[in-house]
Amino acid sequence: RTPLDPRTLLDLDQAHVWHPYGPMPGTATPLLVESAAGVRLRLAEPAEGHRELVDGMSSWWAAIHGYGHPVLDAAVRGQLDRMSHVMFGGLTHEPAVRLAATLVEITPAPLQHVFLADSGSVSVEVAVKMCLQYWASLGRPEKHRLLTWRGGYHGDTFHPMSVCDPKGGMHRLWGGVLPRQVFAGEPPAGFDAAVDEAYAAELADLLERHAGELAAVIVEPVVQGAGGMRFHSPGYLRLLRELCDAHDVLLVFDEIATGFGRTGELFAAGHAGVAPDVMCLGKALTGGYLTMAATLCTSRVADGISRGEVPVLAHGPTFMGNPLAAAAANASLGLLLDQDWRTEVKRIESALRTGLAPAAELPGVADVRVLGAIGVVQLDHPVDMAAATRAATRHGVWLRPFRDLVYTMPPYVTGEDDLARIGEAVVAAAAAG
Ligand code: PLP
Repeated sequence: RTPLDPRTLLDLDQAHVWHPYGPMPGTATPLLVESAAGVRLRLAEPAEGHRELVDGMSSWWAAIHGYGHPVLDAAVRGQLDRMSHVMFGGLTHEPAVRLAATLVEITPAPLQHVFLADSGSVSVEVAVKMCLQYWASLGRPEKHRLLTWRGGYHGDTFHPMSVCDPKGGMHRLWGGVLPRQVFAGEPPAGFDAAVDEAYAAELADLLERHAGELAAVIVEPVVQGAGGMRFHSPGYLRLLRELCDAHDVLLVFDEIATGFGRTGELFAAGHAGVAPDVMCLGKALTGGYLTMAATLCTSRVADGISRGEVPVLAHGPTFMGNPLAAAAANASLGLLLDQDWRTEVKRIESALRTGLAPAAELPGVADVRVLGAIGVVQLDHPVDMAAATRAATRHGVWLRPFRDLVYTMPPYVTGEDDLARIGEAVVAAAAAG
């Protein structure tokens, strides 16, 4: 194999490789990453004078322990020596069983059963399937719709798209073929804000009117991620729990982005002290090493499905429970839970509060907000992605602004100097974008 030089690789990339939400052929040239270690991405060629960039994105919420962590590396290598994959139908193995048992232990108590899915979107598909199958099994197939609030993002396969924000591109493209769901308004902004009475009444009214056809309510708890990086009061989660119980509707929390400490609680549901009937996890589950997600449900849901005409959960992907990914997840959870992750997340929160504060003084900035290890600068106009990314890169930091947002969620292992640098880069990107 002859090594390919960077120029050739980038030409081939543009000609043949789709990137997330990208055109074909590619137009913007991606940065070519050669390796990653700690919190740094090493580029094949310098960008804006930097060969290494501090990763302000944790590879989209996933790499909470940074890259090339010796414990994670050893876990995956050790598993590779035993087996990289076996089918999960009729077979099982320690990494998957151990992972499921740990997830049951650390998530809210009623969640007892775990489906190991291959990606976040698939885990949401599985969650929807669990809910629809639950009601069908109980002889209520008319309860097949979902209620969500606007401004959400749940993934890009069809059921997840149907509960993404209806103003977004998903619905513009696919409105005609997506399952038709019930939408409440966006939850009022502000983690510390009091529950808005009018909004609470809107939720109550929608639940009451649609209960007969609703299988479940699905929301991102406390932080809406890719739909707009909005924070809302945990009070709305308590309200949804009450309304779902009152109207016999299941409650699904999509914790794919918020899970594993990112918001300052191990799971965002913890801010509200409520348990959903179904919970989706992904992203940081494997510390960002390998693709794996999980859907957990209560015994009520599992027992309901078991009583149906088809008494099995009708889902089973080829790579379900992949041992390498499960080994990475076990190691990542071990690392997280054995350390004082709460203090680390608080440390990042306070560094981001300090670092992002100057952005509030910039013209064109609508809001600056921080929660846990998440920092957001919202502009009053669409961001110029290329200019904002270049400005961050000039500070030696990797950011991926979108829509009207410049934001960061650094790995938990990011040191003080690098956090300060990320803060400067976010402010510079907001100024340039
Ligand atoms: N749900 C939420 C809350 C997400 O943030 C994402 C990804 O950004 C998904 C679901 C989809 O996960 P994946 O991209 O792994 O399919």
